[in-house]
Amino acid sequence: MCDKKLKKYFGSRYVRLALFWLLAVSFAVTMHTLLLVNRNEDADFYLLSVCARMTVPFFFMVTVPLAAALLLFRDTSAGRQGTSNKEGLLAKKVWSMQGFDHLWNSLKGKKKPKVRTAACARAWIELDSKALKQNIAFLRSSLPKSCKLMPALKADAYGHGAALIAKELQKLGIDAYCVASAKEGVTLRRQGTKGEILILGYTNPQEFALLHRYHLTQTVVDAAYAAQLNQFGKKIHVHIGIDTGMHRIGERYENTEKLAKMFEMQHLVIDGLFTHLCVSDSNEPQDQSYTKKQAQAFSQTIQKLQERGYSCPKVHMLASYGVLNYPQYAGDYARVGIALYGVLSTKEDTMGVKQHLKPVLSLKARVAAVKVLYAGESVGYGLTYTADCDKKLAVLSIGYADGLPRALSEGVGSVLINGQTAPVIGRICMDQTIVDVSGIKHVEAGDVAVLIGKSGGLEISACDLAKQAGTITNEVLSRMGQRLERILV
Ligand SMILES: *Cc1c(COP(=O)(O)O)cnc(C)c1O
Repeated sequence: MCDKKLKKYFGSRYVRLALFWLLAVSFAVTMHTLLLVNRNEDADFYLLSVCARMTVPFFFMVTVPLAAALLLFRDTSAGRQGTSNKEGLLAKKVWSMQGFDHLWNSLKGKKKPKVRTAACARAWIELDSKALKQNIAFLRSSLPKSCKLMPALKADAYGHGAALIAKELQKLGIDAYCVASAKEGVTLRRQGTKGEILILGYTNPQEFALLHRYHLTQTVVDAAYAAQLNQFGKKIHVHIGIDTGMHRIGERYENTEKLAKMFEMQHLVIDGLFTHLCVSDSNEPQDQSYTKKQAQAFSQTIQKLQERGYSCPKVHMLASYGVLNYPQYAGDYARVGIALYGVLSTKEDTMGVKQHLKPVLSLKARVAAVKVLYAGESVGYGLTYTADCDKKLAVLSIGYADGLPRALSEGVGSVLINGQTAPVIGRICMDQTIVDVSGIKHVEAGDVAVLIGKSGGLEISACDLAKQAGTITNEVLSRMGQRLERILV
C-alpha cells in the first residue's frame, strides 16, 4: 500500500532509493540512541561500530544520486521519456544506476533478466558484431584520417536494428550518425545515442520542436525550407543540402545568393554542407565524368561561400560507393550505409569487396512442421505447386511480412536447412513459407532454416535474395520486418 503510494508519487526507482535512505536513517538513529548501552556495553560497542561504518557509505549512496537527480532532473516526466538535454540524460543515468537494480533484485531474490536468445524465436536476425567491427576498420582505412564515418542508421539501420547497431558503433568510437526522419532520430536519442544525429530528409515544420528538444541536426532541403526553419525561432542545428546534379534534395549549387542568405539566418546554426553523388557506383566513363562534375560543383560552391566570408564547418559528399570509388573526395564525414553492413547493392559489386567487407546480418526461421505432400496433391494459396511424386515439406515460420520478398515464391528462392538447400515451393504467405525438404534426410519441427547466412558449407547472401527478387540488397535489408527478433552474436 505504502509502496504503491510512493511509487505513484516517485516512480519505482525512487522507492528503492527511499528504502536505502530509510535504512541509512535507521543506522544513524540506532547509533545515536545508544540502544544497548545499559544492557551490554560490548554489544553496544559492536552495534555502534557496524552502524558507524554503514551509515557513511549509505549516506553517499543515497545522497549523491538524489542530489544529482534533484538538481538536474527537474522535469521528471520528460526525463523518463528520454529528454535529450545533457542534464536529463545524466540524471537518467544516475537514476538507472545498475548497481541499485542488481542489489534490489538480489535482495528480492530475483534473477538477472534473461538475455534474449534465438532459442525460442520463430524468426530472427543475428548480427555479427565482429563483421561490423571489421567493416568499420576497412572503411576507416579507405579514408584519410580527417574524414569521420557517419553511419546511416535509417530504416532501422537497413533492417539490422538501429538500437543494437548504434550501441555497437558507439563502442567502436563512432559519434555521428545519419537517419531519414526526425522520428528515427528521436528513437535513437531515447535509446541513449549520443553525438551528432543528422536527419537526411524532410521534417514537417510542426515537428521542429523535436529537433530542438532532442538535439537533432536537420538537413536544409532548399532555400524555402531554410526560411521555415529559421521562423521556428529557436536555434536549430543544420547541414545544408546542396543539389549538384541528383535533383533530389538540396538547394541548387548555382544559387550562391540563396545559400549565402541561409548563413545570415539568425536561428540556423550551420554545422555543415553536403551533397549526394548519384552515379558513384558506376565505372562507366560518362558516369565518372558526371561524378567529377558534381564534386567540382560542390567544392566551387563551398569556395564561393568562403570567399564571401562564411565559414563552412563540415563538408561531406561520400556514401558507401563514394568511399570505395572516390576516396579523393572525402570531406569531413562519410555517410556510409550499405557497405557498413558488409554488402553492396548488387551481387557483382559485393563479390569485388568480399575480402574486406563481411555481411553483418543473418536471417533465420524456425521449422514449424514437417509433412508429406502426396503425389498429385497441391500446396498453398492458389495451389500453384503440384507434387509429381511424394514430397516432404517443411513449413517455416517466416513470411513476406517479415521481409522475405514474395517474389521468391514458386522455386525462385531457396533456404538452407542442416547444410542443404531446400527450394521454396508454392506462394510465400504473410507469415509462413513452405519449402521442399525431400532431399534432406534429417529435418524436424524446431530445426533452423537459414534464409540469409551460412549453413554447413553453403551460404545465401542478401545479394542473392535481391537478385532473385529483381531488386537491390538495400531494399531487401531495409524491409526486414519489425517482428523479427534481433540478436547480437
Ligand atoms: C542513404 C543515404 C546514404 C547512405 O547510402 P549508402 O549507399 O547506403 O552508403 C548517404 N547519404 C544520403 C543522403 C542518403 O540518403
